[in-house]
Amino acid sequence: MRILLTNDDGIHAPGIFAAKNALAALGEVFVIAPERQRSAAGHAVTLHKPLRISSLRLSDGTEAHAVSGTPTDCVTLGYEIVMERNCDLVVSGINNGANLGWDLTYSGTVAAAFEGAILNLPSIAISVTAEDVSADKVIFSPAAAFLANVARQLLSDPLPSHSFLNINVPNCLQENLTGVEITHQGRREYVDKVVASQDPRGRPYYWLAGSLKEVNPDPGADVHAVLANRISVTPVQLDLTDYRALERLRGWQLS
Ligand code: MN
Repeated sequence: MRILLTNDDGIHAPGIFAAKNALAALGEVFVIAPERQRSAAGHAVTLHKPLRISSLRLSDGTEAHAVSGTPTDCVTLGYEIVMERNCDLVVSGINNGANLGWDLTYSGTVAAAFEGAILNLPSIAISVTAEDVSADKVIFSPAAAFLANVARQLLSDPLPSHSFLNINVPNCLQENLTGVEITHQGRREYVDKVVASQDPRGRPYYWLAGSLKEVNPDPGADVHAVLANRISVTPVQLDLTDYRALERLRGWQLS
């Protein structure tokens, strides 16, 4: 069993340790992550400059590979170069921060699992739903234990082709989790996304931030599950087609 482990929080992210230690019981773990924080990189790939892979050791002595590109680049280089196309499982995480609802389209964590799904490898994105907390306040151990369990079952009972799991674990102690829910992708919107201010030379600058728009999430959605302190497991596929709109579009006079 050969496992590709990446993490968009960068090669030194504590979530990598937690995932690596949990996955070590299943097989050989290859740690390949961006050399720096690349959260919200989406599914970006680096096409217009060379990429480098630097070998290094993590603070616990684990051999690891830092890549000068994006999380998606890490999966591509990890699979093609480091693992020489011999890989059984792709894991992205454990991320510091939720990856729920519409945020999946921004997420570097989820994009790495998308890339695993494009390679048609069993893939998992896993996150702890900590909101704006430093890494030392994130409780990774329940997510790590859950990851090992899910990975075993995913390998023995694979998903349909080009599909992966997006897992979100509430940031709390194991005893405060209230269960596991199989969910669909919900909605997550932000308000006040742009903060405008002035630099010391009087020129305007803009800071993208925003706060979550208050909505009542629909039952069964990932957002709803984690609010109730349940672990959310969503099967995700690559096909973004809006099937509801197909028939209507066929009625347009386009030809
Ligand atoms: Mn991240």
